Amino acid sequence: MSQDLHLQTLTQLAVGLGNGTFSSVDITEALLDRIESHNGALNAFITVTAEQALADAQRADAARASGNAGPLNGLPIVHKDIFCTRDVLTTCASRMLENFVSPYDATVVRRMAEAGAVMLGKSNMDEFAMGSSNETSYFGPVMNPWNLECSPGGSSGGSAAAVAARLTPAATGTDTGGSIRQPAALTGTVGLKPTYGRVSRYGMIAFASSLDQAGVITRSTTDAAMLLGVMAGFDERDSTSINQPVPDYVAGLDKSLKGLRVGIVRQHFDAGLDENCGVAVKEALALLEAQGAILTEVDLPNLELSVPTYYVVAPAECSSNLSRFDGVRFGHRAKDAEDLFDLYCRSRGEGFGAEVKRRIMTGTYVLSAGYYDAYYLKAQQVRQLIADDFRKAFADVDVIAGSTAPTPAFKLGAKTDDPITMYLSDIYTIGANLAGLPGISVPCGLVDGLPVGLHLVGAHFGEETLLNCAHQYEQATDWNDACPEGYQ
Ligand code: GLN
Repeated sequence: MSQDLHLQTLTQLAVGLGNGTFSSVDITEALLDRIESHNGALNAFITVTAEQALADAQRADAARASGNAGPLNGLPIVHKDIFCTRDVLTTCASRMLENFVSPYDATVVRRMAEAGAVMLGKSNMDEFAMGSSNETSYFGPVMNPWNLECSPGGSSGGSAAAVAARLTPAATGTDTGGSIRQPAALTGTVGLKPTYGRVSRYGMIAFASSLDQAGVITRSTTDAAMLLGVMAGFDERDSTSINQPVPDYVAGLDKSLKGLRVGIVRQHFDAGLDENCGVAVKEALALLEAQGAILTEVDLPNLELSVPTYYVVAPAECSSNLSRFDGVRFGHRAKDAEDLFDLYCRSRGEGFGAEVKRRIMTGTYVLSAGYYDAYYLKAQQVRQLIADDFRKAFADVDVIAGSTAPTPAFKLGAKTDDPITMYLSDIYTIGANLAGLPGISVPCGLVDGLPVGLHLVGAHFGEETLLNCAHQYEQATDWNDACPEGYQ
C-alpha cells in the first residue's frame, strides 16, 4: 500500500485519509524516505523538517480521529525557503540569511498549517528569488529530475523539482517574473501564480514588492485549486492584500469550455520560440478549440517591452528591499570591521552573491538622482501601457494562451555567463506580473524527453476561469501523469 503514496496527488491522498486507507504518518514517512533517497541527486531541499513533520502528522491524525480535520488535514506540503517559518531556518538561499530563524510564520505558511497541512521541509531556490535556473542559490543548483544535467528553471526550482520527482505532491512558490510558471513548465508540473493581492505577502521575504506573488506548484489543477482556496484571502498584515471573497475554486473546475474566448498573441509564436515547443503548444490550443473554445488573435503592442521594463522596476525595488540586510539587525555580519561603514560593506559584500549584487547595483543606478526620470519613471509609464494592453485585450477574450517558456529545460551552466539570455527565459511570463494578472502553466507535451508548458493568463481575479480551462485541458490529455524515469 504505502509503496505508491508518493504517486498520489493531494486530492487522492485526501480521499485515502478520509476513508482511513492510510494515515498522515504513513504519507509523511513515505515521502521523507523518498526525500532521503533522492535529494542527494536533486538538491531540491535546503532544510528537511523530518521530526517536526512526523509530530505534525501525528497531531493531524489525532485531530481527524476526534472529528476536527481541516481542509488540508494531514496533507504534505513543502515551502519555498523564501517563506518565513517559525523556529525553522529561512535562508532565501543566501549566505546573508544562512542562519536566520524567523520568530513568526508567513501568512501562507500559517494558513496551510491551520488547515492541517504537514510541512516536509523548505525548498531550494535562486538567491532571493533572483534567477531563472536555480543556479544563483548559495546552496548550489537544483537538478531537473527529467535530466540531471539540466536546470529545473527558477527561481522556485527546488519546489518544482521536488514535485516532479514525486518527493511531495505540492509545494509553494513565488512568482515575480515567472518563477512559479517557468519552473513548472520545465519540470512537467502545474504552476499557479494568482492575481497580485489575492494571496498575502506577509512573511514572504520581499524581492520586488509590486510584482511578488505567492502561489503553488502541484501535479494537478484540482490540487492547485484546493490550495489556492486555503491560501487566498484578505490579510490585514499586507497592505496590498485585497479584500475580496474567496470562491470555491474546486467547484468551478468542471464547467465546459464551450464559448470560452482564448486569445493568442501572434508574436509569441515568432522566432524566439523553440520550434518543437511551438508545435506542442499549438496542439494544445487545437485541443482547447476541439473542446469548444474560440481562438482569436489578440494584440498586445507594448508587450515586447516587458523584459526591459521588468529589469528596471524589479532591481529598483530589490535595491530598496535588500537594504535592510546590513549586518546589524539580522543576517550575515562580517568579522573584524573597522567601523560602521566598513561593517556594512563587508557584510553585504560577503553575504550576497553575484546576481543579487548585479540587481542591487542596477537598482540603485536607475533610482539615483539624474537617472530616475530616464529609467525608473519611464519604466513605470511603460508598465502602465502594458497593463492597459492587457485590459483592452480582456474585453474581448477570457484567457490568453501561449508557451510558458521559450525552450524546454536547458543545461546547467548554459546561460550563467550571459545574464541577458537568462533574463529572456521569462519573456512570456513577465507581462502578467507587470500587470498583476493571474497565470498558470500546465504540462502540454514532451520535446526530446523534456516537458513543455501551456501558459494561460487571465483577467484580474480570473483564477476560476484559468483553473477551469487548465483542468478541462488536463482531463483530455495525460501529460500530467508523465513521470521522469527513475521516479515512479
Ligand atoms: N527570472 C526572473 C528574475 O530573475 C523572475 C524571478 C522571479 O519570478 N522570482 O528576476
